[in-house]
Amino acid sequence: MTQAKVCFIGAGNMTRSIISGLVKHGYPSTLIHATNPSQGKLDALQHDFAIEVSNDNAVAAQAADVIVLSVKPQLMEDVCGALSHLDLANKLIITIAAGIPAARYQQYFKQPITLIRTMPNTPTQIGYGMTGIYAEDNISAEHKAICETLMQSGGKTVWVDTEEGLNQVIALSGSSPAYFFLFIESMIASGIKMGMAEDKARLLAEQAALGAAQMVIQNQQLSLETLRTNVMSKGGTTAKAVETFQQGDLAGLVDKAMNNCVARAQEMA
Ligand code: NAD
Repeated sequence: MTQAKVCFIGAGNMTRSIISGLVKHGYPSTLIHATNPSQGKLDALQHDFAIEVSNDNAVAAQAADVIVLSVKPQLMEDVCGALSHLDLANKLIITIAAGIPAARYQQYFKQPITLIRTMPNTPTQIGYGMTGIYAEDNISAEHKAICETLMQSGGKTVWVDTEEGLNQVIALSGSSPAYFFLFIESMIASGIKMGMAEDKARLLAEQAALGAAQMVIQNQQLSLETLRTNVMSKGGTTAKAVETFQQGDLAGLVDKAMNNCVARAQEMA
């Protein structure tokens, strides 16, 4: 079943990204089904990816081997409840919704289910996504492989051993694109204040961010500290800027932000 019939319930932005990656990687579009109440969204998906679409969640779910739940968390109980009359015994259910613990889905579906929780992030849209995956002990290797195939279509995956691990994934990758956007945004604002044209400030900051990320990825043998100190010379310009960040306790602020992120995920569960 490595190329299973997959049905995405609630095909919105994140689903579109996953489907786009799947089709690009050669997953047969005839095995992909997406549902949405909006006919406009369904038409666009069918036009772009030649997949099967429908506005009937139950019919689509019934026909699938794998059901990917991708509606907003606040709609999840109703959407799952409306599928609870189906026999889900032989189906793999994957959820991409933030916050809802695995055990709660059993209550929503009113039957034992085979469930894997995932936490993707928005760079999945462009193939640079990162998805954390959590499966309970009873999930088979085959089901884990199916889930990996689906989520790796949009980038990389990492398994976590506990649901708490998924909250850490939120802090490290689910929410973190926004941290980097904020940092780049702040650099551009500062560059503009210095007199640089906005387009040039953006180009300089974004290319530096891209280059820095690639240097981290391509130099796995080097520590981040080494990469950083390689840019710095004693008493030089980079040292002055880095010293300013350290005096402002950037590391402490990042730690506080990430802990607040995890705490919020725990509250929302
Ligand atoms: P979205 O709003 O773009 O997509 C959800 C879609 O569900 C909408 O198009 C909506 O029309 C549809 N829908 C509503 N009611 C429905 C119903 N009864 N049956 C079928 N479809 C229905 O949201 P999104 O950003 O794609 O997020 C989807 C899920 O992914 C959420 O649970 C979110 O927590 C999770 N997620 C999102 C991100 C992110 O960065 N966007 C990251 C990780 C996880």
